[in-house]
Amino acid sequence: MAIGIGFDIHRLVPGRKLVLGGVEIDHPVGLLGHSDGDAVLHALVDAMLGASGRGDIGDRFPDDDPVWKGADSRELLRRVASEVAETWEVGNADITILAEEPKMAPHRSAMRACIAEILKIPESRVSVKAKTSEGLGAIGAREAIASFAAVQLEPK
Ligand code: MG
Repeated sequence: MAIGIGFDIHRLVPGRKLVLGGVEIDHPVGLLGHSDGDAVLHALVDAMLGASGRGDIGDRFPDDDPVWKGADSRELLRRVASEVAETWEVGNADITILAEEPKMAPHRSAMRACIAEILKIPESRVSVKAKTSEGLGAIGAREAIASFAAVQLEPK
């Protein structure tokens, strides 16, 4: 089997939708990015690419390429998942979101469902956890949201 990890962080700014784990969350600020800024799916894309030895999200979807401007990150994950699925099966995915606010608990099951559907695995094999940064640093100051992701792949 193979294991991959991914990390991503985006700045919170007014005038942007907050999209995390493929789910739009009602919040006064959103994540700045060339795409929709979904730090959770970006971390997961990097974990998938890492586990399968396929480079990183910056190689695949350059942030100076107009094709990916405003991109729905579910589409980025879908593309990577379908490529990885040629030779690997996803065992499980485990995600930790670092955000001072909003509360992630009400959105966790929608995120799990979205990710499970894209990875074509049961929701029971997708974990979404969340924690604050205890008021410390940029995340604690509500200036950013970050995410870690780990995936395990098994050869087909
Ligand atoms: Mg990103």
